[in-house]
Amino acid sequence: MIKYGCQKLSEADIAEVVKVLRSEFLTQGPAVSNFENEFSKMCGSKDSVAVNSATSGLHLAYLALGLKTGDQIWTTPNTFVATANAALMCGASVDFVDIDPKTYNLCVDKLELKLKNRKKTGRLPKIVVPVHFAGTPCDMERISHLADKYSFSIVEDASHAVGAYYESEDKERGCRPVGSGLYSDLTVFSLHPVKIITTGEGGIVTTNDPAHGETLRLLRSHGVTRDSDQFTISKPGSWHYEQVKLGYNYRMTDIQAALGLSQLTKLNEFIKMRRVLADDYYKILGNCEDITLPLQPQTGISSNHLFSIQLSAKLINSKKAIFSDLIEAGIGVNVHYRPVPEQAFYNKMSFDENDYSCAENYYQRALTLPLHPGMTREDVIFICETLKRVLKKYAQK
Ligand SMILES: *Cc1c(COP(=O)(O)O)cnc(C)c1O
Repeated sequence: MIKYGCQKLSEADIAEVVKVLRSEFLTQGPAVSNFENEFSKMCGSKDSVAVNSATSGLHLAYLALGLKTGDQIWTTPNTFVATANAALMCGASVDFVDIDPKTYNLCVDKLELKLKNRKKTGRLPKIVVPVHFAGTPCDMERISHLADKYSFSIVEDASHAVGAYYESEDKERGCRPVGSGLYSDLTVFSLHPVKIITTGEGGIVTTNDPAHGETLRLLRSHGVTRDSDQFTISKPGSWHYEQVKLGYNYRMTDIQAALGLSQLTKLNEFIKMRRVLADDYYKILGNCEDITLPLQPQTGISSNHLFSIQLSAKLINSKKAIFSDLIEAGIGVNVHYRPVPEQAFYNKMSFDENDYSCAENYYQRALTLPLHPGMTREDVIFICETLKRVLKKYAQK
């Protein structure tokens, strides 16, 4: 089976993990700090804080911005449930802004309109969470202008976008890596095995605000500090630590960080390979009238995390059969995503259908083709030929 997404590990990766297993530190130790430093260097952020998942990272990022009961975040319906769940974990509520049917990302025009309308009733978001779907950067320049005008914070869910770039306001500087914090307060990345690089499970949050970095470090480890400046007791014994906030155990282990460090050295190679494979898809499927191919970003550079095509309208009713035929042929297709407000858990909260009708329309037709750096160009040819044959079979029906 050619999986839709999969880690690519080398003997060097494995050797780095084994080194940690033979060392003094297993859980959070020197490898975690090294990984954080290297990640900051890669994306040009002042600080990075590694955690045990992107879900934990989102939770802590929202908490660092003070999200609490009575507050609301706005995000895209076309995302993994964790983006929204993390806000509910803070006691806040969620609302959705529909996608742009071309980019599959949160539509900034709709965001602006919703902000304008909501200003009258006073229910504005505390945080807006754009998701760089499939690794295609959102229009962050415009979103950040709206943030200034309507005073909300921004957390980027960049789970798909390690190694992606957005256009910078300053054209001379050209593209800037996602995570550089040019347009947001915090950026959260996932290091799950299907994502761009992996630590097994894991996430990392970048920020340029030292106060946020401090809060994240405190909350990922029980809210416990060993910094004497924060103690309520003067001159305590050297065993002394104090819990100053309610925190969690969201630490990354050194075992994971060693893998992350090793994976990071291959980020460029991974991104290049994803680009080659995506370009092959465009070339081979470019004239196939039964499907719509994803748009390459007009500005910035995609990390090509997912290759999500849409079936033509006449094939919608055959989607289940097309999906099964492809799986049977050994092609591990998938679907990203069923709109979050349609999930059983969210459905009870009765969202306005107008806030996810484009996302629903997209979902009806969406099909994710395999794309990961462990695939070969021959795999892409095989997938495209099989896909064309299967589509033809159902288009004629
Ligand atoms: C994978 C993913 C997450 C969750 O990542 P974990 O590291 O598995 O917690 C959150 N948001 C998006 C958009 C994702 O794709």
